[in-house]
Amino acid sequence: MNSADPHCIFCKIVAGQIPAKKVHEDDAIVAFHDINPWAPVHILLVPKQHIVSMADVRPEHQDVLGRMMVLVPQLMRGLGVTDGFRQVINTGRDGGQEVMHLHMHAFGGPRPWKRG
Ligand code: 5GP
Ligand code: ZN
Repeated sequence: MNSADPHCIFCKIVAGQIPAKKVHEDDAIVAFHDINPWAPVHILLVPKQHIVSMADVRPEHQDVLGRMMVLVPQLMRGLGVTDGFRQVINTGRDGGQEVMHLHMHAFGGPRPWKRG
């Protein structure tokens, strides 16, 4: 559950094996633009560790999840988002999760948006 999954697209982005427009990288987190944006600014924040979803979160993930939350306003400011943003985490099939590597969406920019 927690090591890199060779079939996981977000693990491949973390490892630099497939390209992504990265907006942030540190020891534990990578953030990059969504390939199919719903809003003028649509980024994804992922832990480098392969955690499948929020349903797999354990107390030891508290630090990385807290850091993801704190990063969002910083990154949105850096991307010119000045009038609010939205954060979404989809979990599991019924939660609409398509990529099975935990990620937080952050949407911003002037409305109307395509979705969300
Ligand atoms: P989910 O529905 O799992 O919450 O969202 C997955 C998101 O990942 C979607 O918004 C989709 O556009 C994005 N996505 C899927 N594959 C790639 C990819 O290869 N690169 C990037 N940048 N985004 C991706
Ligand atoms: Zn992964």
